[in-house]
Amino acid sequence: MLRLHDTATGSVRPLELREPGQVSLYVCGPTVYGPPHIGHGRFTLVFDILRRYLAFSGLRVRHVSNVTDVDDKIIERAAREGRTEAEVAAECEAEWWAAMDALGALRPDDAPHATAYVPGMVALIADLVARGAAYETDDGVYMRVDAVPDYGLLAQQPLSSLRAGARVEATEGKRSPLDFALWKKAKPGEPQWRSPWGPGRPGWHTECVVMSLDLLGEGFDLHGGGQDLMFPHHENERAQAVAEGKDFAHYWVHNGMVTVGGEKMSKSLRNFSTIAELLASHDSRAYRLLVLRAHYRRPVEVTQETIADAERGLARLDGLARRLSLPDPLAAAPGGALVRAQAVAAAPSGVEEDAVDRFCEHMDDDLDTPGAMAGVFDLVSRAHAAADEGDEKTASRLGTTVAVLAGAVGLALRKGVAEVDEGTRRLVDERDAARRARDFARADAIRDELVAAGWVVEDGAGGTVVHR
Ligand SMILES: [Zn+2]
Repeated sequence: MLRLHDTATGSVRPLELREPGQVSLYVCGPTVYGPPHIGHGRFTLVFDILRRYLAFSGLRVRHVSNVTDVDDKIIERAAREGRTEAEVAAECEAEWWAAMDALGALRPDDAPHATAYVPGMVALIADLVARGAAYETDDGVYMRVDAVPDYGLLAQQPLSSLRAGARVEATEGKRSPLDFALWKKAKPGEPQWRSPWGPGRPGWHTECVVMSLDLLGEGFDLHGGGQDLMFPHHENERAQAVAEGKDFAHYWVHNGMVTVGGEKMSKSLRNFSTIAELLASHDSRAYRLLVLRAHYRRPVEVTQETIADAERGLARLDGLARRLSLPDPLAAAPGGALVRAQAVAAAPSGVEEDAVDRFCEHMDDDLDTPGAMAGVFDLVSRAHAAADEGDEKTASRLGTTVAVLAGAVGLALRKGVAEVDEGTRRLVDERDAARRARDFARADAIRDELVAAGWVVEDGAGGTVVHR
């Protein structure tokens, strides 16, 4: 059984589902005002991997992720470019899906838009005001955080210390610096909707509460997002649900950040690179493998070196697929996700059940993807060894297991022929020269170097032959 870290309790807990066999997952989606950056790619991949693994385990998953299409940043960009907010949002949303499709992420079952949920948000805010948990000011409606006794649960700090650290904003009429906007009264020229407090628009924290409860119902299983959303966004989502007396998410799952040179990558630091930039020069699967090789709660370092290292890992997987002509189980999977029982039944050569069990043990341990993938790469070595010995049956069984397990976390293997680059060609020549000079230590060292770079190395009649 899957055990997951829950931020609300600060512990790894067995996943107890609201309905047996069925998982409800809500993930905070993008605010569509610019190109998706690699931090967005990470959370999308982390929750895609979680979702795929739940499906692999035989569970039905309902995945909802919102699109925030009204926001200060969208309004600013539209004003700057002389376009409507709707045009900016539509263009950026198209860019978002193109990038996530390229990363191989399954689309959510529902992707609700904030602008389609305004009446529901107005109703929630009105109810919070009626309960005395929110109040109107000159510029909007604010939530009283002291109406929620355990406010600070997800921030993992009590209200008193959050208060001490809060920035005091010069907002007229706000009673406490932590109180947050539920409704923003419209300034001239801004998009607006009718409400009991005059024309305006809802605050960001309200949309996820309304959408998640509407589409998934009370007591849904998992609420996800990046660790940067724990506070204030998730804290404030939860505060509204608690003040409403609603049973909200049962588990809060947060992924770690992307770093470059040990520093947090974010748009505000202007050091981000976009997913489009990453994909322009790298295999789109490399980012998924890089994400898989880090634990989802830890930071992941995204640099040319770490991506290149992941590409070498991919080359090993692809090399095996080519050598053994492995099937691509993902291509045949209904809905694009593998289910263990079906994938095993469909494998003509069978699979190494023990290896699948070990993979699942790692994944069940709070998604230990580094451990799970280490097991997959171990199988790659074993499959090559079996093929070297001429044991085709074993090689095929182990190789098929690799294809199934890689597919379980969304990695497709490719059998296309890899071009031998200039550097590799030089190493091959150097190795042949070393062998002619009977310098076998040097020849073996080069062979190891080539294997580490993802090449399959064979000694042909005319010298060293490499392929992937
Ligand atoms: Zn949210």
